Amino acid sequence: MEEADYIRLAKETEIYRNCKNVVVGKGNLNAEIMFIGEAPGRKEDEQGLPFVGAAGKNLDKLLEKVGLSLNDVYIANILKCRPPENRNPLPEEIKAHTPWLVEQIKQIKPKVICSLGNYSTKFFFADGKIEDMDKMPGITQIHGKIKLMDFHGLKIKLIPLFHPAAIIYNRKLIDLWENDMEIVKKEISQKTL
Ligand code: URA
Repeated sequence: MEEADYIRLAKETEIYRNCKNVVVGKGNLNAEIMFIGEAPGRKEDEQGLPFVGAAGKNLDKLLEKVGLSLNDVYIANILKCRPPENRNPLPEEIKAHTPWLVEQIKQIKPKVICSLGNYSTKFFFADGKIEDMDKMPGITQIHGKIKLMDFHGLKIKLIPLFHPAAIIYNRKLIDLWENDMEIVKKEISQKTL
């Protein structure tokens, strides 16, 4: 069988050639809620799984707090491969790796997407147009504010959240993050989900 275009595109990037493992995602492919982060870090690259390092511990806490397990969610990233030294994703990398993410979203058909941090949030706010991402509001402004969107024909509630790595040593952000969790909790407890 011929390789899908979205996989071929990601494979053509330098970060693909330099990573140990491609980090596709983890969780339930029938989940109604997806969490989408930025890019794999060192631990994720070694294990081939998203959010298994320090940021992952925070994400686990978040999930537990709102009563979710890995069986209720699917977790993926904007980039499928680790950028060197965890540098920020480059626009051309986002362009080459997000068709794979879009494919995952189309397959899973989530009702809610929690975008983790600036890159993920801006990607959805820009409706997947990488060249518009820069013009989108930052996470500090829009965290916890629900946005209804039509993404590739799917009606999705987007809940922008701080990136779990950003809040690790920041008391102020931890408080904001916990408030935002109440919003996630309320949304996922609604029967309309
Ligand atoms: N940070 C992310 O954005 N994704 C991971 O998988 C790990 C850390």
